[in-house]
Formats: sequence, structure tokens, C-alpha cells
Amino acid sequence: MMLFSELAEYYDRLESVSSRLKMIDITTELLKSADEDEIANIIYMTQGVLAPPFEGVEFGVAEKIVEDAIVVATGYSKQDVEKDYKKQGDLGLTAQSLRSTSKLKRMNTKNNSVNEVHGVMLGIARTSGPGSKDAKIKMLANLMAAGTPLEAKYMARYPLGQLRLGLGDSTILEALSKASTGERNFKAELERAYNLCSDLGLLGERLFKDGTKSIEGFRVALFKPIRPALAERLPTAEEIIERMHGECAVEQKYDGFRCQVHKDGNKIKLYSRRLEETTEMFPDMIKAVKDEVKADRIIFEGEALAFNEATNEFFPFQETIQRKRKHGIEEKVEEMPLHLFAFDLMYLDGEDYISRPYKDRRNALEGVLRGSKLIVPSTQIITSSPKELEKFFIDSIGDGLEGIVAKDLSAPYVAGARKFSWIKMKRSYRGELSDTLDLVIVGYFLGRGSRAEFQFGGLLCAVYNGAKDVFETISKIGTGFTEEQMKEFKRMLDGIKVKSKPPRVDAVMEPDFWVYPKYVVTVKADEITKSPTHTCGKERMPDGIEVGYALRFPRIVGEGTVRQDKSAEEATTTKEVIEMFRQQKKVGVGD
Ligand code: ATP
Repeated sequence: MMLFSELAEYYDRLESVSSRLKMIDITTELLKSADEDEIANIIYMTQGVLAPPFEGVEFGVAEKIVEDAIVVATGYSKQDVEKDYKKQGDLGLTAQSLRSTSKLKRMNTKNNSVNEVHGVMLGIARTSGPGSKDAKIKMLANLMAAGTPLEAKYMARYPLGQLRLGLGDSTILEALSKASTGERNFKAELERAYNLCSDLGLLGERLFKDGTKSIEGFRVALFKPIRPALAERLPTAEEIIERMHGECAVEQKYDGFRCQVHKDGNKIKLYSRRLEETTEMFPDMIKAVKDEVKADRIIFEGEALAFNEATNEFFPFQETIQRKRKHGIEEKVEEMPLHLFAFDLMYLDGEDYISRPYKDRRNALEGVLRGSKLIVPSTQIITSSPKELEKFFIDSIGDGLEGIVAKDLSAPYVAGARKFSWIKMKRSYRGELSDTLDLVIVGYFLGRGSRAEFQFGGLLCAVYNGAKDVFETISKIGTGFTEEQMKEFKRMLDGIKVKSKPPRVDAVMEPDFWVYPKYVVTVKADEITKSPTHTCGKERMPDGIEVGYALRFPRIVGEGTVRQDKSAEEATTTKEVIEMFRQQKKVGVGD
């Protein structure tokens, strides 16, 4: 049995190292010392969550609650807590230092185990309704009062979703591999299973209880969302056909939101691109699945679009996205009913379809949707002619769609990976720089001149390098913000400020403040250039200088601020940037 104080020691060590290899070693040691009935909780806690993210278990704990809990647990006044927080900028550090100089003795000397702390935290999350604020404060304060200062630090950070350990899923997977086999190379097998169930805790538990065989035999399961297959991009019909070795399926690319449907009899759940459960938001879709899908048990996927009955057209993305809401759902169902263009099938009545060729998946999908109205298969042609593909692309764009996605007829469903079995070609590739980029904010700059008023002067943004599991900077975005955006960015980023460069960030440029890599913004630029000030895809030149890729004239796209449907690890990758750079040279900028 592991005590929470031991876990806190591991976290403290993780925070103090900056090399990824050391992080893996510490995490391996941590996992090895866990029992099989606590490994799942330890993994969730280390991910900063209470349960697999798709279950959407929220703490419902605001900073004020943590501040009040520190007051109760330490005997300091509210003013003392606020003052210290202002000074340190991190409630974890405040909890730790005030706990260590606490006027109260360690109230109860019970050493809480990891499972006990997890249980109380779950209790805090499940407490809602009138009086819940006080109850949450009390539960959290009791935990802190019984723990050491170091425990208090992580007990304060955990419910705020700000553990700041700086390690991602990839590090946990590698550590699980080393903890179970002593080697790194079982990671690939673990990753495969993770892509099928999106639940690291479950994998850890299976591994510890039933060994590596249970991971090798891992299959898709209902109500465990599958990590989505992603598309590569190419700029011309010729290149697509060449890459597909001739015949392929070409489908219209709809610009709505991705929807993964799981159905077991009358139990139906929906998951978003980010694998968040969205069942409650779309009662009309649930009804359509019930009425139209001729299968008892099924997992399939499609793009949901809102339909405008007045004009008999689909709403554009900006309107469709209004259906993603927590309140006023019924009105919107009336106003903008959803249609689903189904494009893949992963499981059907006891059969795993993931590894079957696309041709077969599509046939079976068409079978279960025969005669349906609201959920229909995506429009598709099969062709080996670049001319025909090009015409389909032009026609699709003429119909107001985004472009096309070509699909390899013999490829399996490649969960959680961007592979050439799907290739997208979009309208935007023909204009400015091919496509937008989704960048992770890793730091921000303070304003000068009139902007100083908001104390915000721009963002330092990065792409994700999956091979190294680090974020490499590609751009400083300093212009084009509205006042609203500046205020909002400042507010959001202040909440995730860190004292020094996070270990998984690789940068040459120094922002005024580093932030924990969390938020993703969509950025447009005129061109990808080479530059020594950024680390994205950096290469050492013959003269010894390292040169990476950078963006020319970057600007944030859209009215809002961050992209809610992508996590930091789902940002554009270094590999993609290199590929975009190559394609840009080929097409010619502004071609
Ligand atoms: P990505 O999902 O590739 O990371 P992104 O979120 O920016 O990037 P796009 O570049 O627009 O999305 O391309 C992929 C998305 O297109 C899919 O995730 C899916 O939601 C959508 N899509 C629309 N129509 C189809 C289709 N027929 N087949 C596959 N995906 C489609």
C-alpha cells in the first residue's frame, strides 16, 4: 500500500528534474512501488484527473475553496493566505509553506494512503447542490490538516487541475513499459491498447493484474472511446492517387464536429474529437441513433452538422458549433437539428472491425444505415483517376464544403495516429500557406506602450514533437489581438503560470512568463520560414548554429481565444510542419 506522502515525494522529485529520461526513471520507480489495486488511481492522479478523462468527472473546486481549506487547515487568516498566494502565484506553494509554519499542530496523525486520498477527492467532486461549498472545504481541509506540508502542496493543486508535474501520457506509457517488462519497447503495444480505450488507469491495472498478454490481446470495447484516426495532407490530386497506389475512396469533407457513437441496445453515448462525453448535449442525435441504426451493438463515427430547415442547407461551422452547449439545448434542437455523415465503423454486434480493410467497414456501415434519414453515410466516389478526384474536389467546394478526404480501401482503422491511409485536401491549400496550425501556448509577453494597460503583449507558441515528447517553439504572436482577447488570454494564462521553463518545452526565445503547456490556439500564417530563434524541427547547420522553422505573419484565427477540442499533445506536430514546408516549396506561396 502506498501512502500519499510517498506519492507526494515522487511528485516533488519529478518537479525538480528537467530531463525527460530522469522523469521516466522516477515515474517507473513510482509505478513499480504501486499495488495492483491502487495502480489505476495512481495513474489517474498523475494525469491530474480522478477517472479516465472521457468520464468527465470534474472536481468543481475553485481557487476560493482551496484558499478557504488552507485557512481551516493551517489556522492562518484569509488575508494571510491571499497575501502569500499573491507573492508565490501558486496555491500549492502557499499550502505547503503555511502548513509548515502552521499555528495548528498536525491535527490528526493518520497517514492517508493514496487510495484514501483519491476516495476523499472523489467525494469532493461528487458533492454538489446547496451547502456543497462548505462541505468541499471541510473535506479538503481535513486532508491537508492530516498531511505533511508536501502533501498539502499537491492536495491544493490536484483539485485545481494544476499538478504541474510536466509529464504527459507518453511518459506514463513508457514508464509502464519499463515497470512491467524492464524495457522500453513494450510501449508500442501499450500505445496500441491505449489508442483503443483512452484509459491509462485501466491499462495499468490490466497489466499489473493479468500481465503483458492481456495488453497484447486488448480489443475495442463499448463505452471506451477510441482515439480518432487522423488524416495526412497533400496538395494535389496526382499526389494523392500516387500515394494511394491507384484506386481509393474519396469522400466529401464536412465541416462540423466529429462524433463517435457507442450503442448497446438502448444505451447510447456520444464522444467528441477530444473524447469528452457529449451525450447530454445532443438528445436529437441519440433519438436518431435509436430510430435509424440497424444494429444492437455498434461503435461508429461521423461528422455532425446542423441543418437549417428554412433554407434547406447545412449551417456553416460557426453556427453548427452553437449546438455544443450545456444549457438551452431543447431550443437549439428545434432551431438547428443535427445530421450525421457517418464515415467509419469500428465495432458491430460482437465483431471488432478496427483491423478490417476500409472497404469492408464501409460496406457494413452502409448495411446498418440502409434507408436512414438523419444519419447517412458520407458521400463518396471510388476512383483511380486524378482528374475525377479533382472534379469531385471542385464540386465539393462548389457545394460549400471544406474539401475531400481520400481513404485507402485496404487500410485498417488506425486509431490515434495520423497516417496516409486518410489524406485530406482542403480549399485553403490553394491559397495562402496550406492550412492553419494548432499551436500550444508555452509563454506570454508583457505589453509595451498602450498595451501595458492590459499587461499583455503576445504569445509564445509551440508545436508538439511526438518522437521526443516535447513542445518546440515556432512563433511569437504579437499582433492582431482584440482588447477582449488580450484580457481573456491574460486571465487564462495567469492561472497556469510557472516559475521557470517547463521541462517539456524546448525554446531559445524567453517570454516574460512561462506557462504550463495546456491551451491550443489556431493560427494562420503567410509562410513557413527557417529561423534560429525557434526550435521546431531544429537542425545544426555546418557553421554550428541551430536553425528551426518559424511562421511569417502569424495571427490567431477566429473571434475567441483557445481551441477547446484539442489538448496540448494534439497540436500540430513538428513532423507536419516539416511536411507543410516541403509542400509549400512545391506549390509556391500564393500560387
Ligand atoms: P485533425 O483532426 O486532422 O487533427 P483538424 O481537427 O484541424 O485536424 P481537419 O484538418 O479539418 O481537422 O481534418 C480532419 C477532420 O475532418 C476529422 O477529424 C473529421 O472531424 C472531419 N471530417 C469531415 N468529413 C470527414 C470524412 N468524410 N472522413 C473523415 N473525416 C472527416
